[in-house]
Amino acid sequence: MAKIFEMSQHMADLIAAGEVVERPASVVKELCENAIDAGAGALTVEIKNGGMTYIRVTDDGCGIGPEDVTTAFLRHATSKLRKEEELSSIKTLGFRGEALAAIAAVSRIEMFTREKGASEGTFISLEGGTVTEKSPAGCPEGTTIIVRDLFFNTPARLKFMKKDAAEGAAVSAAVLRCALSHPELSVRYIRDGREEFHTPGDGRTDSCIYSVLGREFSSSMLEARASGDGISIEGYICSPDSARGNRGHQFFFVNGRFVKSQLLQAALEQAYRNRIFSGRFPSCVLYITLNPAAVDVNVHPAKTEIKFMNERQVFDAVHYAAKAALDGENRLNRIEKSSPPSPSQAVPPRPVDTAARDSSTSPVKEKDEMPYNRGVDFVTSIQPPPENKEPSLTGVFEQTRIVYGVSETTMPQPVGKAPLKSEPEQEPAPYRIIGEAMSLYIIVERGESLFLIDKHAAHERLLFDRLKSREEGAMSQALMTPLIAAVGREEAAELLAHKELLFEMGFELEDFGAGAVAVNSAPAGIEVSDITALLTEICEDIRLGMKPGSLGVRDEILASIACKAAIKAGKSSEPAEHLPVVSAVMSGEVKYCPHGRPVSVELTKKSLDKSFKRI
Ligand code: ADP
Ligand code: MG
Repeated sequence: MAKIFEMSQHMADLIAAGEVVERPASVVKELCENAIDAGAGALTVEIKNGGMTYIRVTDDGCGIGPEDVTTAFLRHATSKLRKEEELSSIKTLGFRGEALAAIAAVSRIEMFTREKGASEGTFISLEGGTVTEKSPAGCPEGTTIIVRDLFFNTPARLKFMKKDAAEGAAVSAAVLRCALSHPELSVRYIRDGREEFHTPGDGRTDSCIYSVLGREFSSSMLEARASGDGISIEGYICSPDSARGNRGHQFFFVNGRFVKSQLLQAALEQAYRNRIFSGRFPSCVLYITLNPAAVDVNVHPAKTEIKFMNERQVFDAVHYAAKAALDGENRLNRIEKSSPPSPSQAVPPRPVDTAARDSSTSPVKEKDEMPYNRGVDFVTSIQPPPENKEPSLTGVFEQTRIVYGVSETTMPQPVGKAPLKSEPEQEPAPYRIIGEAMSLYIIVERGESLFLIDKHAAHERLLFDRLKSREEGAMSQALMTPLIAAVGREEAAELLAHKELLFEMGFELEDFGAGAVAVNSAPAGIEVSDITALLTEICEDIRLGMKPGSLGVRDEILASIACKAAIKAGKSSEPAEHLPVVSAVMSGEVKYCPHGRPVSVELTKKSLDKSFKRI
C-alpha cells in the first residue's frame, strides 16, 4: 500500500510558516519591511502581550489595490520580483513572497488598505490562511494590518513561546532595528499602550539614534564615515571607554537592511585593538551602501545573513572608517550631548559638525570626500616617530630643559594626528606638571582640570606603540655573557618554536637543553634581572594570543615587553622621566594601555568645587 502522499496545501503552508514566522518579532519584522518597501514615510507598530495576542502595523505607503488583496496572501506571491535576473540585484527588503502567507497561516488577520489616490479601500480578514471576509471599506491611504492570536491553530508552536515580556523584548529589538535602518522613516512604537519611542524621520542618523537608543548611548558615539570604490560607510561608533560586555549594540545596515555579519563585526572590532579590554565589545550604528549586485541577500529565509562579493573591500572600508573615527576621537565628532529629548521629540538635537552633516541625506558620497582607500594612507601615516627622536625604547627618556613643577610647557603638536581637511589645527592648551604621588600617579594641571596619569600604564602604551611601528624590528641589547633562562621544558620548546618572531622583537635565543634557553640579546630597555620572568610571560602570551578576544600573539608579546621596559609603578621616578609620558597623554597620543585600561583620569574644578560644597 502506498505510504507516501502529497501534503495538503494547508499543511504545506503551516510548515513553511515556521521558517518565516518563528515568533511575534519575526511577524513584526516582516510587516515593517513590507511597509518600507511600500515607500512609507511614517510607520506605527503597536503590540499587546508581547505581540502574542495583538500586533498592529500601520503605514502610509502605496497600499494594495482590491484586485491584488487576496493574491498578496498567497504563497510566493510578490510584486517585487518578476524575472530571474532580478534576483541577483535585489533592491527591496522583501522578495520571497512568503511573509503574508506564512503569517496568515498561523493567525487571525484583518487588513485595511487603500491605494494612493483611490476613492475607497479594501478590508480583508483571514483565519488560519482562509479568507473569511473581503469588502470595500473607507480607510486612509496606506495599509493597516492587525495580527491576532498568533499560533492559535498550532499548539505545538505556541508551547515554545517564551513569556510575554521576553517576546515583547524581541519585538522591541526588531522595531528598533527597523527604525535605525531607515532614519528617513518616522517610526512610532507602542507597547501595551505605552509609547516606547518615536523617531522624527528627518533622514538624520544622529537624531534617529538619539530617539531610539537614548541620550547616554548617543553621547558616547563618534561619527564614522568613508567612501570610495562604490562603497560608502556612514554612521557612528562608540568611544572606547563606552565599550560593553556584549555585542548587543552592534548595528550594521547594508543597503537599508539590518544584517548579522562576522565580517563586519571583525572589521569594527579590529579597529579597537589595544583600545579596549578583551571581553568588551564596541557598539556601532553603521550604514554600508554599495551596489545591490555586489551583495547576496538570498542566503537565509530571515534575510539577515548576507554574502558580499568582495569581502576584503567591505572589510577595509568599515575598518578604516572606524579607525579614522577613533583616531580623531578628540575632535568634535560626537552626537550633541545637550538638550535631552522627550521620548517622542519632534525636534532632534543639532550635531556639532553641521558642515559634514549636510551631505548626510545622500547615502553615497562624492568620491573625493575622504575615500577609504586614501584612508589607508591616512591611517598608516598617523603614527610617525616623533620629530628628532629615534623611536627607541630609551629614546622616550630624552630630556628637555624645563624647570619641573614651575614653568609651563606648551603641549607639542599631537604626534601623528592627521587633521581632517575641514578643521583648522588648534593651538593646544598649556599644562603644568605638579608632581608625582604614591610613586605611581603624575599630577598635571591644565586649564580648569587636574589630570592623574598612571605613569606605568601610559609609558607602557607609549613603548608598545613605538615597538609596533618599528617595522625593521625592535632595538636590541647584546648581553655581555649569555643569560641562561631556566623556563621549563615546554616553555623552552615554545620559545624556540617562535625564535624568529622573538628575534624580530630583540631576543636572540638558543637551545640550552634541560628546559633552558640561552639569551644572547634582549630588547633594549629590559633589565637583565627581568629577562627570565619576561620569557615566561611570553610563553603565556603565545598561548593567550591564539585565543579569540586577545590582542594576537605578536601584540601580546609586545605588550609584555613594553610592560617590563616601562617605568615601574611603586618606584618614584626622576622628573625628566615624566616629560615624554605626560606629553604623550596630554596630546591625546596615548589614552589607553595596550589592554585597554585608561591611562589618565580628569578631575574638573567644577567637580572638586562640588565636593567642597563651594557650588
Ligand atoms: P514580499 O514582501 O516578499 O513580496 P509578502 O508576502 O511580504 O512578500 O507580501 C506580498 C505582497 O503584498 C508584496 O509584494 C506587496 O506587493 C504587497 N504588500 C504587502 N504588504 C504591503 C504594504 N504594507 N503596503 C503595500 N503593499 C504590501
Ligand atoms: Mg514582505
